[in-house]
Amino acid sequence: MKTIYTFGNGQAEGRADMRDLLGGKGANLAEMNLIGVPVPPGFTITTEVCRLYNKEGREAVVEMIKEDVKKSIAHIENLTGNKFNDPANPQLVSVRSGAPVSMPGMMDTVLNLGINDAVAETLAAKSGNPRFAWDSYRRFVQMYGDVVLGMKPKNKTDIDPFEAIIEEVKEQKGVTFDTELDVEDLKNLVVRFKAAVKVNTGKDFPTDAWDQLWGAIYAVFDSWNNERAILYRRMNQIPEEYGTAVNVQAMVYGNMGNNSATGVCFSRDAATGENLFNGEYLINAQGEDVVAGVRTPQQIMTEGSRRWAKLQGISEEERAAKYPSLEESMPECAAQLVDIQHKLEEHYHDMQDMEFTIQDGKLWLLQTRNGKRTGAAMVKIAMDLLREGAIDEKTVIKRMEPGKLDELLHPVFDKSAVKNAKVVAKGLPASPGAATGQIVFFADDAEEWASRKKKVIMVRLETSPEDLRGMSVAQGILTARGGMTSHAAVVARGMGKCCVSGAGEIKVDYVNRTVEMRGNVYKEGDWISINGSTGEVYDGLVATVDADLSGDYAAIMNLADKFSKMMVYTNADSPRDASVARKLGARGIGLCRTEHMFFEGDRIKAMREMIIAPDEPRRRAALDKLLPLQRGDFEGIFEAMDGYEVTIRLLDPPLHEFVPHQLETMRELADETGVTLEDVKNICNSLEEFNPMLGHRGCRLGNTYPEITEMQARAIIEAALNVKEKGIDVHPKIMVPLVGVKPEIKMQADIINATAQKVFAERGKTVAYKVGTMIEIPRAALVADQIAEVADFFSFGTNDLTQMTYGYSRDDAPKFLGEYKKLGLLKNDPFAVLDQEGVGQLVEMGTKRGRQTKPDLNVGICGEHGGEPSSVKFCARLDMNYVSCSPYRVPIARLAAAQAALESE
Ligand code: PEP
Ligand code: MG
Repeated sequence: MKTIYTFGNGQAEGRADMRDLLGGKGANLAEMNLIGVPVPPGFTITTEVCRLYNKEGREAVVEMIKEDVKKSIAHIENLTGNKFNDPANPQLVSVRSGAPVSMPGMMDTVLNLGINDAVAETLAAKSGNPRFAWDSYRRFVQMYGDVVLGMKPKNKTDIDPFEAIIEEVKEQKGVTFDTELDVEDLKNLVVRFKAAVKVNTGKDFPTDAWDQLWGAIYAVFDSWNNERAILYRRMNQIPEEYGTAVNVQAMVYGNMGNNSATGVCFSRDAATGENLFNGEYLINAQGEDVVAGVRTPQQIMTEGSRRWAKLQGISEEERAAKYPSLEESMPECAAQLVDIQHKLEEHYHDMQDMEFTIQDGKLWLLQTRNGKRTGAAMVKIAMDLLREGAIDEKTVIKRMEPGKLDELLHPVFDKSAVKNAKVVAKGLPASPGAATGQIVFFADDAEEWASRKKKVIMVRLETSPEDLRGMSVAQGILTARGGMTSHAAVVARGMGKCCVSGAGEIKVDYVNRTVEMRGNVYKEGDWISINGSTGEVYDGLVATVDADLSGDYAAIMNLADKFSKMMVYTNADSPRDASVARKLGARGIGLCRTEHMFFEGDRIKAMREMIIAPDEPRRRAALDKLLPLQRGDFEGIFEAMDGYEVTIRLLDPPLHEFVPHQLETMRELADETGVTLEDVKNICNSLEEFNPMLGHRGCRLGNTYPEITEMQARAIIEAALNVKEKGIDVHPKIMVPLVGVKPEIKMQADIINATAQKVFAERGKTVAYKVGTMIEIPRAALVADQIAEVADFFSFGTNDLTQMTYGYSRDDAPKFLGEYKKLGLLKNDPFAVLDQEGVGQLVEMGTKRGRQTKPDLNVGICGEHGGEPSSVKFCARLDMNYVSCSPYRVPIARLAAAQAALESE
């Protein structure tokens, strides 16, 4: 087994397509070597080794790779001419993790490894820059202490022990910036840092380079299972078993003086998709400095620098003097970087996110990867690349992340509301969109408030990976520090969350839970609004409007429909929902839940009258009141869906959901209907069920109270005739819920057909309609061949089907599902992501058996899963005719359906 792959000096044992084995970082480091991009030499320990480490433990793995690690270090030494663990001619290395899919901020990095007192002296002498040597050393002890020795504070309010020491030293000296510390101060820091390590861990800080290296390798492997990494994997459906690679690379130093720098850059704009090379850098800085948000990073290109200054309200003179672009400060390196980013984008045919370091005027690339981007940028970049001829139409569709479309569909601020809104701060437009919510300062609070259905904006000095949980439930994120590539910005864009970062003028006070903005003090719970597209922060709640759905978005959706083989319908209960869904591309209604219509306004009264009616005639009298209301609703929906199929489901929920529970309302009902209060109470009590989900609901109601089905069938047929008379094409489908045995659907179909014939005779006109059923009871899937003898179509109700297959109550499962996921008992919430392995078998069997009886049986799905990409793809593989989902998920389902078609090619 080959455990290590080396690279350097234009050669590499790995390649870009080996990311499963080498991780994304390792594979691209190899590839960059092969295409002539300057990369410091190094090697990658494979993900396979990490998997073994997790399975067989540390010792077995060390035994296996020890010799290979030694040889690979020698490979670096040969190329640089330096020696690892040799104070006379030292070679330092970086150690970084790199999983097959990028996990920003999740895994740990150690720089300057191999340094100790003697090495620092040599570096100081050789470079003639003692400050650089001791700065590198103190950074190493700090990073190693935090990452490898576990000293990073667990609690967000705790201060990093090393930062506390730095603050103390600065205070004693009376300075504000790290850069104002001199060599003696840095030496002092190293001593104090090591003492802190001894206090915290009970052990001396390791001085031997090999001990340091092994410690770091273990730490990278161990970090695969740290809490943040596990959470990120869960949120992004990354398999637990992948493992991470370890990249060990010769150090290059961005902190060697004013002719050195470090930075990150993107070949296009990750927020908007604009084709503009952009990025940030810092002179005389190392690695994390740029993204950590402690110093204000500068822009790489002058164009970007001017835009940045404008947003920050900084004059051109001040900008050029204090914050020059890399183009201005190091023109040759900037020009070389521009060439390299072109080369990399052309090579990978996608927007690249790169890290670089300039050591004493020489440029090195440390990483490249396909950049994370917002939904808007995803759409624009793909369409631009298509127009540029870099990719074809199918690649455009394959590249889309369906879930990200969500951001594009969501509201933006209402223009007139924004005009009147008071701007209370301005920061960088880090991740677009509009967000409005109540201020919270900590991730825990964000989670807790969100669980109480509150909309929150997380306000932080800067964010760290610990804040991820809070960020994921917040409407938006506002930070005081950090640039466009800060942790907050990168993570927010990845999540499609609105974010304003680097609003330097705001004063965040964690202790008092307040933030001061232009003289106004906002407390936790106060409302603010943020615009992630302009960087503006507004006072209070600002109204929003729907997004624009033309341009590149429309082009992508057209492409999706071109490749897709499955239709996307919508679940809509009102004409309004129906027309929203139509605008979003729905081509029919797959589920109209009629019960929702009964809850509105006065209708509930007629419904209650019907329920407590002591005999059939009085029940019919009440139903007669409901008939025109239902008919009107159906007409509206048929008109909105002009020409498309509309699937209307007959009454489904148990009757007790409609009856009053309070004495006052019972009395009102008694007065209105002339039934005694005692009788009303008795009827209401008698309708109570122990287990209503499994009780008197669905077609069980329609079969025991046939007049309900009669009324609904009449309303549908009459509405269809009325609409048809107006010249509108109408295709009603009547759907019977909760069928388990064939006679149930047979009895319902008989009632519907008899009613239709009656209406046709009365009106002297006919309209075509279909009668079908939901398949949502496991038994129905098992006897689908029999049910198809009666049904014209099937629609899988995977909400109930999941409930009954798992035996998890839909209403109660949330109480334990979260814990179940944490314990690893379930990978996903089966009510959100279709359980293909279990419930999926029933869906597959039901489809097959139904089509055995009727080969062209129309089959679809209308449970929540109809809008979830992996479930949509599953339905496409079963050759379903359509999936049906809530209006805002229609575009997501259209894309997923197209991707499924392309995946099966
Ligand atoms: C289902 O059970 O999947 C379904 C769509 O019906 P409801 O959610 O209304 O029970
Ligand atoms: Mg159901």
